[in-house]
Amino acid sequence: MHMAAPSGFKDAALVAASSTVSDADIDALAQRNFLDGIALTQSTNIVPFALIGLCTLALPDPRLMTVLLAMNVAIIAVMYLISQRLRRLPEPQKAVSLWRVYDGFALLSGIGWAAMMMPVVTTLGRDIASMFVCVVIIVSVAVTCMVVAAQWRATLLFMIGVMLCLVPQTIWYMDQIGPIPLLATLGLGPTLYGLAYAVRKQTRSVLRTQLEKDQLAEELAHALAAAEYLANRDSLTGLYNRRAFETVATAMQNDASTAPLSLILVDLDHFKAINDRHGHTTGDSVLRRAADVIASHAGPLDLVGRGDGAVARWGGEEFIILLRNLSAADATAVAERMRVDLTQLSDGSWPDGLMVTASFGVAEWSNGISLHACISRSDEAMYSAKQAGRNRVRLHGAETNPEEFVAI
Ligand code: GH3
Ligand code: MG
Ligand code: MG
Repeated sequence: MHMAAPSGFKDAALVAASSTVSDADIDALAQRNFLDGIALTQSTNIVPFALIGLCTLALPDPRLMTVLLAMNVAIIAVMYLISQRLRRLPEPQKAVSLWRVYDGFALLSGIGWAAMMMPVVTTLGRDIASMFVCVVIIVSVAVTCMVVAAQWRATLLFMIGVMLCLVPQTIWYMDQIGPIPLLATLGLGPTLYGLAYAVRKQTRSVLRTQLEKDQLAEELAHALAAAEYLANRDSLTGLYNRRAFETVATAMQNDASTAPLSLILVDLDHFKAINDRHGHTTGDSVLRRAADVIASHAGPLDLVGRGDGAVARWGGEEFIILLRNLSAADATAVAERMRVDLTQLSDGSWPDGLMVTASFGVAEWSNGISLHACISRSDEAMYSAKQAGRNRVRLHGAETNPEEFVAI
């Protein structure tokens, strides 16, 4: 069936889009962006690692720092590998256990960063390299919290890791370094949280706006498609209306590859009597089913016009079909097949004895005549079919030959 109203589309097109952006949508987009940008995010670790590596050379005992540095690089490498695995999944948000592993490494990473404070904590006040390492660690931890803030659980676990490792250190070495580092560490927690939270909030608001914009664009495209559909279609049958038919027909005429063009005008017989006898609702049902039958004979090979061809409801119980690359004689054969199929039309909802027949007028749309001149020719042929007793096909110019295409 090529021409019947694609009702699914029609219904969907008419439903006012009302969905809004959900938190889950934002989470999914945030996650996608996070995974897409992970290489860049992790590259921000290179500079602090290099700086700490340099300072390590100046430390009295560089061994512990070297081990910790290597451990941190390894953790970040594993996190990168996990993220790449997640990135390749079609729906990474569903890989819950992999994310759990990732979050676990985020916790380890927090511990790892804070652990690098251990080799320098006791020499902080005395040694410039130790001081510098401390600053690099704090800045890196703060930057990490902000950069990964969109991945909230991982960020929280990272912060927890930092605090879990830093607070005991400042308590353990309090004898040597006094209470200030502990107080500073306790202040660091809320500061990191505040920073990450602000970045997360802002990122999510940007993502929400982006999603809403995308959704609006989609709704608009849908509404435009619905409007175009409604503007071009007959609401009862889903066939083209007159205006759309004229547009498509003109396009066909201007396309030399469609020649020869033939036109068929169909008028249901005694349709008024069907309405009078069986009611208007049954009449509408007959029109819809007849439209389906007519359209089913106008296959895409014969037609142009956005894939489903130039078949239209021309008036109340009149249909018009424009066939391309078909001589009038061949179009007459198509009309004859339509006519026979219409006589066999039935429907469970129709009263017994309801018979549908139609009269057909065929004309070739020769160069040099207008569409409406050609329609008049088809109309004359159709009128001649009516005159000859209905339920038959007449070809323009052959109306006087009643033997041709007479009803069976
Ligand atoms: P003929 O064989 O000469 O064509 O006779 P007819 O009864 O088919 O022609 P006529 O022009 O007298 O009647 C056409 C009828 O089609 C009249 C009108 O009420 C009916 N009609 C037009 N549009 C619709 C519609 O959308 N639904 C229904 N149910 N009937 C319609
Ligand atoms: Mg009529
Ligand atoms: Mg009629």
